[in-house]
Amino acid sequence: MEKYELLPQQLLLEGTCDEANFFEPELPNDKYICAVHDPDYYYNFLNLKLSQKEIRRTGFPLSRALVERERLIAGGTIKASEYALQYGIAFNIAGGTHHAYTNRGEGFCMLNDQAIAAKYLQQQKLAEKILIIDLDVHQGNGTAEIFEDDDSVFTFSMHGEKNYPFKKEKSDLDIGLPDDTKGEEYLKILKETLPQLLKEVKPDFVFYLSGVDVLETDKLGKLSLSIKDCKERDRYVLQTLKDYKLPVECSMGGGYSVEIKHIVEAHANTYRLAQEIFF
Ligand SMILES: [Zn+2]
Repeated sequence: MEKYELLPQQLLLEGTCDEANFFEPELPNDKYICAVHDPDYYYNFLNLKLSQKEIRRTGFPLSRALVERERLIAGGTIKASEYALQYGIAFNIAGGTHHAYTNRGEGFCMLNDQAIAAKYLQQQKLAEKILIIDLDVHQGNGTAEIFEDDDSVFTFSMHGEKNYPFKKEKSDLDIGLPDDTKGEEYLKILKETLPQLLKEVKPDFVFYLSGVDVLETDKLGKLSLSIKDCKERDRYVLQTLKDYKLPVECSMGGGYSVEIKHIVEAHANTYRLAQEIFF
């Protein structure tokens, strides 16, 4: 997708990042993927043996390139979560594959990057209690299902109630917003929710899915946030996490505005804010 090339170019050009701020993802060990995904599903995916029905549901044609890309995205989020422990914040410039379930892919998501990294951190004893803040406009249904019976990972999803996925899973906290929700209302709800959540959950690590498909210009989003509102959302989340001294891994998630410049600008704002707040 074009945005994955344009976004780093923009960040380098304007000096928000320099080359040394980037890392190359590595393929993760299969055992970390299988700590989240059913091994039968994962190895069928890896060996290009998913059924036609399973493939149709994902929205992608199954290919070697797709398998490698999804594994690299998961590896990138694992590595970013380790960097977040070191620096306070780190990003996967892709990721946010929150529609991937334990045993199936859906909605252009095959492997759930933040779920895999969350289990990885716990297995390595780098984190105990994890909070996933999913503000992509689509519900994090796969993430909700994966951690349904796991009290050590709290899933929070704020999304468009009438948007895809039409059959929603139960996150630990779901806030479903009506179509056309404006920035003011959106930010009011977020600001009422997040501090309370941090006090109750007491996480030691946070994953943030900062999808920009909440924008009014988005083709799929159905909400009505301006670019400024979306920036204020990210500022509030990142500043609050910084105030609570919580390390955060940020995956990009969706963004389908008609004009690519709106997508890149909104994603770039998340990086600009990270520089401003954390460094
Ligand atoms: Zn989305």
